[in-house]
Amino acid sequence: ATFTLERDTEIFNLINQEAHRQEYGIELIASENFTSKQVMEAQGSVLTNKYAEGLPGKRYYGGCEVVDQVETIAIERAKALFGATWANVQPHSGAQANAAVFLSFLNPGDKILGFNLSHGGHLSHGSPVNFSGKYFQAFFYGVEQETGLIDWDKVEATALKEQPKLIICGASAYSRDWDYVRLRAIADQVGAILLADISHPSALIAKGLLNNPMQHCHIVTTTTHKTLRGPRGGLIMMGQDFENPFGLKTLKGELKTMSALLDGGVFPGTQGGPLEHVIAAKAIAFGEALTDDFQIYAEQLQKNAKVMAQAFVDKGYKIISGGTDNHLMLIDLRPKGLTGKLAENTLIKADITINKNMVPFDDKSPFVTSGMRVGTAAMTTRGMKEAEMLHIVELIDSVLMNHDNDTYLGSVKTEVNKWMEAFPLYV
Ligand code: PLP
Repeated sequence: ATFTLERDTEIFNLINQEAHRQEYGIELIASENFTSKQVMEAQGSVLTNKYAEGLPGKRYYGGCEVVDQVETIAIERAKALFGATWANVQPHSGAQANAAVFLSFLNPGDKILGFNLSHGGHLSHGSPVNFSGKYFQAFFYGVEQETGLIDWDKVEATALKEQPKLIICGASAYSRDWDYVRLRAIADQVGAILLADISHPSALIAKGLLNNPMQHCHIVTTTTHKTLRGPRGGLIMMGQDFENPFGLKTLKGELKTMSALLDGGVFPGTQGGPLEHVIAAKAIAFGEALTDDFQIYAEQLQKNAKVMAQAFVDKGYKIISGGTDNHLMLIDLRPKGLTGKLAENTLIKADITINKNMVPFDDKSPFVTSGMRVGTAAMTTRGMKEAEMLHIVELIDSVLMNHDNDTYLGSVKTEVNKWMEAFPLYV
């Protein structure tokens, strides 16, 4: 191929194709959302040109006066949104935020306790294929087979037995709220630091619709791009700073505070220069999330998930834990004789995007799976309410029941594309 400095039509044509896919499809991936135009504008700005290793006012590069202000605003807005007293807005992603926390005060081989990946946990909470499971000794708690719920007594028993230095709560596919008070009591019994990874339900927590871990968990991490509707990225916060309990000292021999350890865990621990264009986009998204309009959005997305879960139950689908408190649900497709892989591949033919997902006690591989995960964050952003959720469940059910009828799937795709015109995205 020959390259020129002219506009790169090859890539921009693909971006246009992706814009079309997003505009005309039903997006139900629980971790996805649509940012505002100003969030994307900030992310595509000249701030991408700037190096700014360090923190506002303490940089290793000159010319940071402007980005210092941007980053300070992002920090202050994050604190206001979640009720934190300290925040670091630099992690490039949710996994990076968790990596920075682990690196801050754990040593290789230390014990950690997290939520089982195959029950809905996240890779970065101790999975053997992730740094968190390779460098640390990971133990797990899970859900009960009958109820699909976490039994806190069992979490306590595992913590007492294994004596982890870090306990992680939070998940990628758990539809119920968390008992942070109980978890803190467990952590205190074994002298562990308690980390809440609220990546998925962060918007619902910020708007007071779910329990807020900030006053109970020592550290809180989140992604900024899921229900929170910001740019792709990570964030670390604390309700209050504290002296680290593991005796880590500065070069001068003083006990390091957790905030100093965490800042160091991000840079230079796990990252180089922060992405100030993304931090500007985070600041804008946090500002948007502080508005009353966002309160309405968060309440609607939670209501939509409840209605959708009930509609699936009414059609004979099995939802793990029987329903949802947040924005997502995990559906066990085995009673319908389907796999997650088949569901994902069939629904996409009708321009309905979901993801296949392991269900607790799954007997299939992660490439096949017995379940699918659906969430309402993205479609609520497009203006959909309860009635539309019922229609989506109708569409999904009819597609799955006709998975071998390509003519029918094609007709649903046409219907979906036409329907989505009523919920314009970026006009
Ligand atoms: N933590 C949880 C609970 C998640 O669900 C995810 C992403 O799905 C992450 C961390 C990782 O975020 P990222 O993909 O930005 O690294």
